Amino acid sequence: MSPPVSSPGAPRVRLAHAPTPIEPGARAIDAVGLGGRGIQLFVKRDDMTGGVEAGNKIRKLEMLVGDALDKRATTLVTCGGIQSNHARATATVAARLGLRSVVLLRTTGEELDATKVPPTGNLFLCRMVGADVRLITVAQYRERNALMRGVASELAAKGERPYVIPEGGSNGIGSLGYVEAMREVRAQIDEGACGEKKPFDVIVHACGSGGTAAGVALGASRFDVAREVRPMAVCDDARTFEEIIARVVTEARAADATLGEPAPTIVDDREKGPMYGVASDEQRALVVKVARGAGLVLDPVYTGKAFAGLARLGRDGALDGKRVLFLHTGGLPGLLAESATLAASL
Ligand SMILES: *Cc1c(COP(=O)(O)O)cnc(C)c1O
Repeated sequence: MSPPVSSPGAPRVRLAHAPTPIEPGARAIDAVGLGGRGIQLFVKRDDMTGGVEAGNKIRKLEMLVGDALDKRATTLVTCGGIQSNHARATATVAARLGLRSVVLLRTTGEELDATKVPPTGNLFLCRMVGADVRLITVAQYRERNALMRGVASELAAKGERPYVIPEGGSNGIGSLGYVEAMREVRAQIDEGACGEKKPFDVIVHACGSGGTAAGVALGASRFDVAREVRPMAVCDDARTFEEIIARVVTEARAADATLGEPAPTIVDDREKGPMYGVASDEQRALVVKVARGAGLVLDPVYTGKAFAGLARLGRDGALDGKRVLFLHTGGLPGLLAESATLAASL
């Protein structure tokens, strides 16, 4: 493990395997029936930022855990859904750095003993790496910030030094990880990894708690990576996310005063599907088509919906002749946890 290194604005601990590859996405475009429109798709493989800790959350954790170590924290406290990729990444990084972790996970079932619910996907991995997994109800989850403060007080009373990370790692500090990711993409454009050495017209990615979108938008304008960002909501409406993203952008700019205005950001909620964590039949079919046609494996909770949003923009003609970057944010453990549902679409 390399020691924390400082970067402007926030201390940072290197955790991700970066730069992640950028690959041509022509086969994925063909797989969804959009060939012949001149859409130049590239895929940024942030599903490859690591092993078990892979996905977009580790980029935010580089900043958040950097801050935690700076404050000499001993325990990371966070929250998420029962199949939270963020909780799994946080728990894994904690174990990697010799820290403890407490994760509050929202369950829809009756059972609140984490050892008694089926140990699949992210939940299994959280337990595997030794997180203190505490299940909470949907109603309790609404008070998640207060609950996490309570856990922090409980830990502090026992002599630990807790560091609370909000849902999805989505605050100003966390989002700076995606500003750094855009610096990385800029270097890849300059090296010729993205076809013509010019900015993308649009970046498309899944949006669940807003931190990725905020960082991408700030970094895209700062490093001239893309003219526009289209976060695809996986739950909630566009308006809600616009407010969240604006708040995180403000926090990020307070944390790093060198940041300018974010790139124009248009949240699209037309492919949010039936509800958080549940994909429509069409979305599941698309995930299977893209896996079979391009070997690009998406998940039903985030990246499948985001790619469905990209395909919809393509059908509308909004991407004709455009250079598009799809940010693959990870989610494989969530896919595996849903394999029984997905198998019906095979
Ligand atoms: C958390 C997550 C997202 C959404 O990122 P936010 O920053 O929370 O909006 C997208 N894809 C995957 C796989 C995720 O785990």
